[in-house]
Amino acid sequence: MFRRSRLQLFREVSLVLRCRPIALLAVLAGFSAGLAAGCVSSPVTPSFEAERYAGHVRILASDDFEGRRPATVGEEKTIAYLEQEFRRAGLEPGAGGSFRQPVPFVELTTRPDAALRISGAGGDTLLKYADDAVYWTKRVVPEIALTDSELVFVGYGIVEPAMGWNDYAGLDMRGKTAVILVNDPGFATGDPGLFNGRAMTYHGRWTYKYEEAARQGAAGAIIIHEEAPAAYPWEVLHNGAARPQLAIDTSGGDASRVGVEGWMTREAALRVFRAAGLDFDTVKAGAAQRGFQPMPLSLEATTRVANDIRRITSNNVVGILPGTKRPDEYVVYTAHWDHLGKSPEGSGDTVFNGAVDNATGTAALIELARAFGEVRPRPERSILFVGFTGEEYGLLGSEYFAEHPVVPLAQIAGGVNMDGMAVDGRTRDVTVVGYGASELEDYLAASAAEQGRVLKPEPTPEKGSYYRSDHFMLARKGVPMLYARAGIDSHEHGPEWGLQQNTDYISHRYHKPSDEFDPDWDLSGAIEDLELYFDVGLMLATEPGFPNWRAGNEFRAIRDQSRAGAAASQ
Ligand SMILES: [Zn+2]
Repeated sequence: MFRRSRLQLFREVSLVLRCRPIALLAVLAGFSAGLAAGCVSSPVTPSFEAERYAGHVRILASDDFEGRRPATVGEEKTIAYLEQEFRRAGLEPGAGGSFRQPVPFVELTTRPDAALRISGAGGDTLLKYADDAVYWTKRVVPEIALTDSELVFVGYGIVEPAMGWNDYAGLDMRGKTAVILVNDPGFATGDPGLFNGRAMTYHGRWTYKYEEAARQGAAGAIIIHEEAPAAYPWEVLHNGAARPQLAIDTSGGDASRVGVEGWMTREAALRVFRAAGLDFDTVKAGAAQRGFQPMPLSLEATTRVANDIRRITSNNVVGILPGTKRPDEYVVYTAHWDHLGKSPEGSGDTVFNGAVDNATGTAALIELARAFGEVRPRPERSILFVGFTGEEYGLLGSEYFAEHPVVPLAQIAGGVNMDGMAVDGRTRDVTVVGYGASELEDYLAASAAEQGRVLKPEPTPEKGSYYRSDHFMLARKGVPMLYARAGIDSHEHGPEWGLQQNTDYISHRYHKPSDEFDPDWDLSGAIEDLELYFDVGLMLATEPGFPNWRAGNEFRAIRDQSRAGAAASQ
């Protein structure tokens, strides 16, 4: 019964869709007279179907694909499937005659000491590995040690001259270990004048913390985990650290990174600060205030980390649909195909299926490729479809792609990244991560309005999600990238319910073996989102202009510069 009405709905939607994209183009371009003509000249606009879409997700998230870890049998099955579907869609190989862009990885399996020893005048505090702290080295070395490394509390570990903020002021960090709070002072105080208020800036991301500590020359960097500002439970870090780590295999062996990186629990931090004669919460509150001074803790850290080093090759999968009129200009769709593989511990369900994260996005990539393959007339700009590897290990495939692009990045008009599609039905809203970033949102808003939906900022900007998936690697090179997600305001159950579903996913399935395909999912929301992403891409592939970041956005200057360079070379 339910199934039939849903099918009916799709028929209706696809009927409306027949003329929709061109009509939207006309509206955007400001000539409404083009509307009728647009319908005639675009006789084939494909539709999306939940069952076909679900079929891809079911396969990609099956135990047979072993959790899609890079450089495993799971990768081979996954990229073979992507390749087959890209070919079926009529795409051409997009990486130098091949669908595969090889990405060199180094795999580090950490064998940490059983504890991180913190010594001071009052004796030793032992932070047990896994229970109290996790630590590793991302340097490609067989062994590294921290020996009586002086601990310094550097607050949020942020250096931002534009904001007059320097948590390392007056310090020489060489040989020392930074103890750092996660997120940023704006999150901690809610003060909209500090960093971006509750919304996380890049300065709040843990990746930034290690990068800055490395710039300061620190020997070690330990972040204090607190669930609210980190946005995920300790278990996620614990599970992550237990698995072999991946990094892009650079000639420098990542020697510029901090020697020992890690996290400690809040409980461990309470003990460490007590050993230093300090109250953690008091000191922490001070770190969110202007004029905070870094504090040597009169404690020393000692531990040792050994690495098993293995060099492996993984692959980004790249397909291209050549444009008819401007083939050297591009629209890009991206989604990471990888996930976390299988658990090294052998009992129970050991496969991290990554059904939502990101079999749903990979299936969306496949479906968009199929749809664009069917569009007649063919789009004017070329369309790139990229399945990234190594997202789960630090946006590695996209970083490599951005550093070794298969087409000039300045020639990419814009793109859409998909990481986790809607599985809880239709919504009245569309969640835009990093809301307000670029003009691509105007395209999305126009298409969403056709569905009777509105754009909304993400409900939890403090999680820093815009910095947490692959579009970020292209964005920071200036390419306008849209990253939207399932809305919250469920048609059937309302917004509270929708938010609850999100929270439930993060607590119970995110990065756990329980993120599995569920035949009871309501994929009608994913189908609507696919229609939106299709429209945005078709508009981008048809219009002559290059959209930009909005004024004041952190990536706009980079884009203006690269576009000016591209224009000058033509
Ligand atoms: Zn993901």
